[in-house]
Amino acid sequence: MLSEVIIKDFLQKAVRGEVTVPPSVTEEFARDCKAAFEKQFGGRGQEWRIRMSGLGHPLCQQVMGRDGKQEEMQYNAIFRFLIGDLVEAAVMAVMKASGIDIVEEQGECSLTLADTEVRGTLDVVLDDPVDGKKVWDIKSASPFSYSQKFGKGYDNMKGDDPFGYLVQGYLYAASKDLPFGGWIVVDKSSGEIQFVQAPDVQDEDRKEFIGVAEENIRKLNSGHTFKRPPMKPEDECYTVKGEKIYTGNKLLNKQCTFCGYRSECFPKAIQHPKVTSKAKSKPLTWYHTLKVKEL
Ligand code: SF4
Repeated sequence: MLSEVIIKDFLQKAVRGEVTVPPSVTEEFARDCKAAFEKQFGGRGQEWRIRMSGLGHPLCQQVMGRDGKQEEMQYNAIFRFLIGDLVEAAVMAVMKASGIDIVEEQGECSLTLADTEVRGTLDVVLDDPVDGKKVWDIKSASPFSYSQKFGKGYDNMKGDDPFGYLVQGYLYAASKDLPFGGWIVVDKSSGEIQFVQAPDVQDEDRKEFIGVAEENIRKLNSGHTFKRPPMKPEDECYTVKGEKIYTGNKLLNKQCTFCGYRSECFPKAIQHPKVTSKAKSKPLTWYHTLKVKEL
């Protein structure tokens, strides 16, 4: 993937003060930042509809949205979304400045599946000198997710995809009749960037993940009622000399932790500083069951 090399080379030169950025790129970056800010602070009253970005989410979550349940968000969600949008704007600006061939950005797309028109907005279509024209999704990630999730490659993503990134990517790609390239991922903390590539041969995966989307659309359109799936909480543990020690607490699974309907499904869930963390400022964590508050 030559585009990854080009970006890293450009950033390396930028560190040495050896690059110039065309004023048009800076202006577009400023416009994108303004739009991101306005999006986050312009009210969130968007009506629910079937969207490409949501179709890979757990069906229970989508049913809640369809049925008009109010999503709850904590105050930090705004910064989380805003930072994601700003990182995306920065990646786009750097790609433009480094001369990468951008065929389309923020492109509106649509696809008819199960007799329903599904819309979305793809991040970017790149024409890479080696890999050709593909649809890419830009993600900002925590250090853990950057190395342990995206960093372990496409197959790892495929095996653990609580946010439906594969469904989303294949839907965008299919709407443009192009292959899915994968994810351009930035570590929000270190500033590192990596291209996590989808395989060249992807007919089977495309069929599988678009099939998931179709099945979800059918269920959503046929009045499928809310049913909480067996979202098994995880036993909290830490390791001492290679041995796992269980605290007796149970953590909410990832999907429910980040779900806006969490309090509807788990009214007794508690947010508490992570018991097993040794950090001075322990990250807040959602517990399904909190028996032990301190080690
Ligand atoms: S909290 Fe969990 S079970 Fe409830 S809707 Fe969200 S993802 Fe589904």
